[in-house]
Amino acid sequence: MLKWLDILNFARNGNPVAPRRVDKSDQQWQSELAPETYMITRKKGTERPFSSQSCQLFEPGKYYCVCCGELLFDAEEKFDSGSGWPSFTQPAAVEAVAYHGDKSHGMTRVEITCNVCDSHLGHVFPDGPEPSGLRYCVNALAMEKK
Ligand SMILES: [Zn+2]
Repeated sequence: MLKWLDILNFARNGNPVAPRRVDKSDQQWQSELAPETYMITRKKGTERPFSSQSCQLFEPGKYYCVCCGELLFDAEEKFDSGSGWPSFTQPAAVEAVAYHGDKSHGMTRVEITCNVCDSHLGHVFPDGPEPSGLRYCVNALAMEKK
């Protein structure tokens, strides 16, 4: 199970090795993705809180990267954070998610991206429920549930 120290270690010293890589040009992504999805995943946008019904859905299922199809999160790790964005306590697999220090907007945060295609997912915070204490705060539009 990943804890906050593991996250900081990834962000500072290097991410887990990706299971595979999907690399496309910005132009390719723009032509393949819906405009809002493109802005969030490739331009590090943020959807408005509570803009997705996905926050309140907790039935079993798996959440895949909308850009490359990599499995990112399992509904078993989903919880109601009240933040307005889908929230998870762990990724589906350690190597599925990459971590990056993010000093934008006057805050120091840890950005999370898809480790396969570098899609911007959201941020991870150390204020999630035990036992991991992690809160992966993810844009609903960055994921596809199956
Ligand atoms: Zn991806």
